[in-house]
Amino acid sequence: MSLVSDIKQTAQGKGLSVANAKVQKIEGILNQAFYASKNPEEELKFLKRMLTKGAHNEERVGLHASALIAGEAEYCARQQLLSLYYKMEQGENVPIGLKRIFEEGNAIHEKWQRLFIRAGLGTAKDMDFTQYDDRFGFTISFTPDAILGIEDESMVTEIKSVNTYQFSKLTNHASGEKQAHFYMYETGIHKGLVLCDDKNNQDFKVFLLDYNRDIVAPFVERLDALKYSRKRLVRDGKMIARRNDCNSYTCKKALKCPMRDACYNRGKGRVLIEA
Ligand code: SF4
Repeated sequence: MSLVSDIKQTAQGKGLSVANAKVQKIEGILNQAFYASKNPEEELKFLKRMLTKGAHNEERVGLHASALIAGEAEYCARQQLLSLYYKMEQGENVPIGLKRIFEEGNAIHEKWQRLFIRAGLGTAKDMDFTQYDDRFGFTISFTPDAILGIEDESMVTEIKSVNTYQFSKLTNHASGEKQAHFYMYETGIHKGLVLCDDKNNQDFKVFLLDYNRDIVAPFVERLDALKYSRKRLVRDGKMIARRNDCNSYTCKKALKCPMRDACYNRGKGRVLIEA
């Protein structure tokens, strides 16, 4: 029986909506993953890739999807344009408190990604695999947490760890859904899943998504605008102005920006990315 007919039957039997029955079905599949046997070969392939990420002095360069989908209060087009040419900070100034939080988040991601592999919902190459899009005349990189195959459907999957207070009230995960949508746009896979994991008791919730182009439209507009700004830079030498709320090298906004050295030509200044 296909996933769809199975879900319809479950929904009828339990008096659930089809959407809720599908969530229940997928939560059941994910719970079963905890009983699946380890898959040493595939899990090691995945771990090896994670452990060698960023090795050999590989630097984080260029346009990343996560920066493109930032909210209006954070997004800086100048930062994106600069990142096409100059090196960015590599996280050396991230405060230790945040570093600890990031590392915990990584461990939760890896737990789920290995469980997905064990349960046969994907292979190593479906987990945390960076992909590239050159359609705008520059390269955008994006890394979905997983592309899962759940029965007859492919799903772009994002994993989010959430504190227990937020988790108890959670009816959706706005930033995870936005991110999954952008990856759906990039991959052409039009089903998504956001998995939220409670940091305290390891309970989890699943939110299913159908692609909605209205959600990604503002990000595609940003990409079109960047394409234009890049042409203008090459043709007329005109750079995008700084944000109004970024007025010095040491202002609050600049301190959070990985391109501030290039932007203000201070610190290590404008170091070109090697071609
Ligand atoms: S330092 Fe400020 S204006 Fe410059 S790129 Fe960063 S956020 Fe934008």
